[in-house]
Amino acid sequence: AGRLILHAQIAALSGQRVLLLAEDRTAAVRLDEVRRDFVANVSHELKTPVGAIALLAETLEDAADEPDVVREFSRRLAQEARRLSALVQDIIDLSRVQDADALLDSRVVDVDAVVTEAVSRNEVEARARDIAIAAPGGSGLQVFGDEALLVTAVRNLVDNALRYSDGGTRVTVAARSGRDGLVEIAVIDQGIGIDADLLPRVFERFYRVDAARSRQTGGTGLGLAIVKHVAADHGGEVTVWSQPGRGSTFTLRLPSADSPTSDSAAAAPAA
Ligand code: ADP
Repeated sequence: AGRLILHAQIAALSGQRVLLLAEDRTAAVRLDEVRRDFVANVSHELKTPVGAIALLAETLEDAADEPDVVREFSRRLAQEARRLSALVQDIIDLSRVQDADALLDSRVVDVDAVVTEAVSRNEVEARARDIAIAAPGGSGLQVFGDEALLVTAVRNLVDNALRYSDGGTRVTVAARSGRDGLVEIAVIDQGIGIDADLLPRVFERFYRVDAARSRQTGGTGLGLAIVKHVAADHGGEVTVWSQPGRGSTFTLRLPSADSPTSDSAAAAPAA
């Protein structure tokens, strides 16, 4: 990096265009670093469940005539396998949404259908944890985009709302027409909340406030990074409001399918 800065300074003396070139190279080096960090993180995260599975399988072999041990270790084996599978799925999702062509398959999508689908996949888990999910529906709003990716994004937010809430609380998923003609999907929980100074970091890949709680409840540390990319792919954004001990609200804002400024205006075939 030192050489690049020097390069940039010399270039600055000899003209604007060369300076821009040098900056491009610095950006490329940074991108490369980010990529290398990600691969290192992924390898580390994969090693944990893979190592546990190997160890549990070996122990099972030795304990074949102890039914209680077999039962307990089989349960843990299945749990680690599920963790591994969730991680692989999230890595696949993330690599897809980071692709510039992620939305090749876009069309007009019914927001209420996205919310219903995302919530339905969490209903069993919510009931088991005694958390009520309210999704009023009936907004009639539409966005232009990839339905499966939007379901993944909302589902990740609902997953988190459940993961970081205790029994007896409520999670609400509400779609409404927000400011600047944007469609807002808000996922509101009454959970543990997040400290203000950590809020900006939660969208980073593999960042977790409490790694133990995340892992124990099946988190991968990639959920919000996926949501952030899905939002950006659709020309939108995701924001968070939170207060420790009171709860969090994650809001996905997307251009409406019938707003003249949305991508749909350019991409949809003329009627
Ligand atoms: P994870 O799989 O760990 O949940 P995410 O990327 O989805 O990964 O979220 C990153 C971190 O942000 C979580 O580990 C958790 O610390 C925090 N977080 C996310 N959603 C919530 C929420 N609704 N309430 C409290 N903390 C949350």
